Amino acid sequence: MNIAIVGGGLSGLLCAFLLEKKGYSPTIYEKLPKTGGVIDSFRRKKIMFDVGFHYSGSLAPKQFLYEEFKKYGLLDKLELYSYEGDFDTLYFDEEKFSIPNSSVEFKQKLQTYFESEKDALDIFFDKCYEASKITLKVKDDYTNIDSRSLGSVMSDIKDTKLRKILLHFTIFYAEVQYEDASFEIYAKIMINMLDGTRKIKGNGRAIVDALKSGLKNTTIKTRDEISQIIHDENGIQALKCKDGIIKYDAVISTLHPRTTTSLLNLENKKLKRYAKHVSELKESPTFFSIFCLVDADIASNLYFYGDDCISVLPSTKINDKRAITVIARSNYTDYTNLEKEEYKRRKQEECKYHISTLKKLYDFGEIEVIDCSTPLTKQHYSNGHEGSAYGILCSAKQKSLSMVMPKTRVENLYLAGESALAPGLLGCYLGAQKVMNYFE
Ligand SMILES: Cc1cc2nc3c(=O)[nH]c(=O)nc-3n(C[C@H](O)[C@H](O)[C@H](O)COP(=O)(O)OP(=O)(O)OC[C@H]3O[C@@H](n4cnc5c(N)ncnc54)[C@H](O)[C@@H]3O)c2cc1C
Repeated sequence: MNIAIVGGGLSGLLCAFLLEKKGYSPTIYEKLPKTGGVIDSFRRKKIMFDVGFHYSGSLAPKQFLYEEFKKYGLLDKLELYSYEGDFDTLYFDEEKFSIPNSSVEFKQKLQTYFESEKDALDIFFDKCYEASKITLKVKDDYTNIDSRSLGSVMSDIKDTKLRKILLHFTIFYAEVQYEDASFEIYAKIMINMLDGTRKIKGNGRAIVDALKSGLKNTTIKTRDEISQIIHDENGIQALKCKDGIIKYDAVISTLHPRTTTSLLNLENKKLKRYAKHVSELKESPTFFSIFCLVDADIASNLYFYGDDCISVLPSTKINDKRAITVIARSNYTDYTNLEKEEYKRRKQEECKYHISTLKKLYDFGEIEVIDCSTPLTKQHYSNGHEGSAYGILCSAKQKSLSMVMPKTRVENLYLAGESALAPGLLGCYLGAQKVMNYFE
């Protein structure tokens, strides 16, 4: 079977890696000069900065990703390490709350702080443990979707500060402090992070290198943008790429579902309806990132929740400085249709604004800005939509609409990628595995 994968980001590489394990020899098409997409790191002034990977859950022994990576020999190629103390520190309403590396300790800590919520927390955590279980080998099941929102499962928890702390985990896959987020994805991310958060030496670049070195029978075509997915009533026929039209038996698209449907021939009424539904789905928010060096030696990730939500994610130590990535909410429309000079000016202005906010929140010492990126940069590196951070918003409602399932309305065209299930190393891995069920 001749299989093509569109997009050479994390999801495309994972799909190729898993297909090879099943004996296939796929071809990856990547429009940019190199693979990696959003997860790749980049170098400026000889310093490696991280864009779309800082840490991940599920990487402790006996946890899902750890055991999968071990089974496939990826662990030997990755150097995992733990946070020395708490991994995330949250600041809101002039208070600070640190998150320990264990779901049991986290629950106990919350129950000590919020004694009156002890029973509600027991029930909430039981529900989280239940929904955090990961099963592979499940094909799309339109009748059995967990459509609960986080807000509905948390309804017995009344303390607003406690709710804010629990809502912190929505930032990794949906929106900041977002009650309508999918509970199922929340539980999988929250429990797996608490019990198995690890950093990876070399961050995103190390993941890309590990996956690529495991590919023996995959052809990778870079600078090769797919401009059309050719299909008929029997399903997939071919792809239109740099070299013309190449025949394929199956295609896995890891692009944003809206981009994927824009590559189809929508003359068929059913397909037109499908594309319309996909185009009506809401996007995740957009971010502005600042890559800088600071004097402060920060060990844990800092999340400042206020009028503006700002995250500070530390990475490499360079002499007595620390490289950090600052991520703040931004607006795609502020950057569209601007002349080059105006774009640059707007970018500088926004950078200055976030840095001055940051200085009021924490003593970072001197902050040296090395580079920054706007929602348009994200758009360029992923070909997503409107620069959204994680593609389609992972709300309970959108997950239950069952539009973004791996199996599409075109026979042998499948969707993987962060919008298909959830973003991140865990979300993209589960999305890729879900597609693998169709390639036995
Ligand atoms: C700021 C930020 C921080 C993050 N931090 C973390 C973290 O700490 N931990 C974690 O686990 N996750 C994190 N994530 C999420 C994670 O980076 C993403 O979910 C993941 O990288 C998405 O991979 P993907 O392959 O699905 O998509 P992408 O990386 O978007 O890959 C799609 C690829 O397709 C290519 N492409 C587009 N159109 C075409 C075409 N027509 N033809 C051929 N190729 C095409 C693009 O160039 C791109 O390479 C973060 C994300 C962001 C935005």
